[in-house]
Amino acid sequence: QALTPFTMANAAQLGDKPALIDGPTGRTLTYSQLDQGIRALAGGLVARGFGKGDVLAILAPNLPEYAVVFHGVAMTGGAVTTINPTYTAKEIRHQLTDAGATMLVTVGMFLDTAREAIEGTTVESIHVIGEAEGAEPLTALFGEPLADQVEVDLDDVVVLPYSSGTTGLSKGVMLTHRNLVANIQQTRVPMDLTAEESFVAVLPFFHIYGMQVLMNSGLRTGATIITMPRFDPMQFLELNAQHGCTRAFVAPPIVVFLAKHPAVEGFDLSKMETIFSGAAPLSAELAEEAAGRLGCEVVQGYGMTELSPVTQLTTPGGYKPGSVGVTTPNTEIMIVDPLSGESLGTDAEGELWIRGPQVMKGYLNNERATADTITDDGWLRTGDVAKVDADGHVYIVDRLKELIKYKGFQVPPAELEALLLTHPDVADAAVIGIPDDDAGELPIGYVVLKEGRGTTEDDIKAFVAEEVATYKQLHRITVLDEIPKSASGKILRRVLRDRNDAG
Ligand code: ATP
Ligand code: MG
Repeated sequence: QALTPFTMANAAQLGDKPALIDGPTGRTLTYSQLDQGIRALAGGLVARGFGKGDVLAILAPNLPEYAVVFHGVAMTGGAVTTINPTYTAKEIRHQLTDAGATMLVTVGMFLDTAREAIEGTTVESIHVIGEAEGAEPLTALFGEPLADQVEVDLDDVVVLPYSSGTTGLSKGVMLTHRNLVANIQQTRVPMDLTAEESFVAVLPFFHIYGMQVLMNSGLRTGATIITMPRFDPMQFLELNAQHGCTRAFVAPPIVVFLAKHPAVEGFDLSKMETIFSGAAPLSAELAEEAAGRLGCEVVQGYGMTELSPVTQLTTPGGYKPGSVGVTTPNTEIMIVDPLSGESLGTDAEGELWIRGPQVMKGYLNNERATADTITDDGWLRTGDVAKVDADGHVYIVDRLKELIKYKGFQVPPAELEALLLTHPDVADAAVIGIPDDDAGELPIGYVVLKEGRGTTEDDIKAFVAEEVATYKQLHRITVLDEIPKSASGKILRRVLRDRNDAG
């Protein structure tokens, strides 16, 4: 089934139930309003000749209308490309050009950047959600409501998100109707979300996690989604308390905040049952610290843009410390020795390979990268090191490319980051490898200290040295005000590396 009818299957029945609430203002879009908006936008776009093979770009923070745009386009048989609003005009221009977008939807706040970005691209028109002077509003695109989804092939591309760009240039990922619907279905039972629940959409809809796990699964279930245009920690707590949210879908930096920030005590989060963390490593210690403080479960899932995104998820009551959970239904996994290419058994560490209906069609305009990533028989190489235990629980060790090679040893930065976070004075941490003539690479650490703490860099170095084998010791510690992170909560190691190159 194509994405939009599948996602909207229950919209008509849900009627006046709030589908999306703009957190800061309380402005609500009910399920029937959402349904009408999607059909009106789709009808208007089709009347303008937009459809299969066409791409509309959206550059917006999380707002209720995001879902109207996303599904309105999906209904026409065309594709959406979702843009990171923190991008510069130049980065946006690259994505618009690469994706071949002809229309751009944005908000007043980003209008100037959008105008600059479309110069020299194929974008013909800009439309704004809400109002902005001198710009055509989104509603001007609305037309006669479209009754049915324009016929699509399930392998037609419906969305072109770009990967986070953690390891290099961000790549356009071709996801099809089949991919998105498959993953919503695969996560439905293990996620166990019900229509009575609500949650705060704090992770951005432009990234696959927010797009699929928050927006699309939430709408498919009939839950109420409270949108937050930008991460504001106090507002996040306030909205969770105000709406009596039962779930939170977050990334590790928010778990760190929930575990360690004094302000958390001031809010009633007693309705919270489960906090899901994904997108980056979360240590068992940190998960337990947050769980103990909030009196709820803190569990993990694993995914990547190329996998629509989820392939592992913790089932209710199925928590195992440090694990990202079990493999979703209708998904095959293999742990592969990166050197010999052999498939490894239980508890052995190797590269995680995945096969299933959620595997992307390929990278856009990049056959070489596609061929390097998906094998001839359909296995997607994740580039992550993992192991599987006898019960099928998967543990992510680190990224293959990010393992630090110290004198022939492999040093996993994620393990050292988790250790640094157990130091009572450390609020956040990152570890990278820097080139070294003798050792190949040297592991070094960056930490952010909790307010008012006077621990020295040497103290922290000694703390690590006491806990780990000699080859894993950190050769330098630097205190920073902040660890650079992506919108989905990943440590931007290349930023730290550049910083180091600059001295
Ligand atoms: P790029 O591919 O452009 O360098 P990226 O891989 O960071 O960027 P995403 O698709 O957003 O882009 O992220 C997928 C990656 O996130 C996975 O390959 C994995 O390394 C990491 N990841 C996701 N979930 C977890 C988790 N629970 N624990 C550890 N790592 C995770
Ligand atoms: Mg990646």
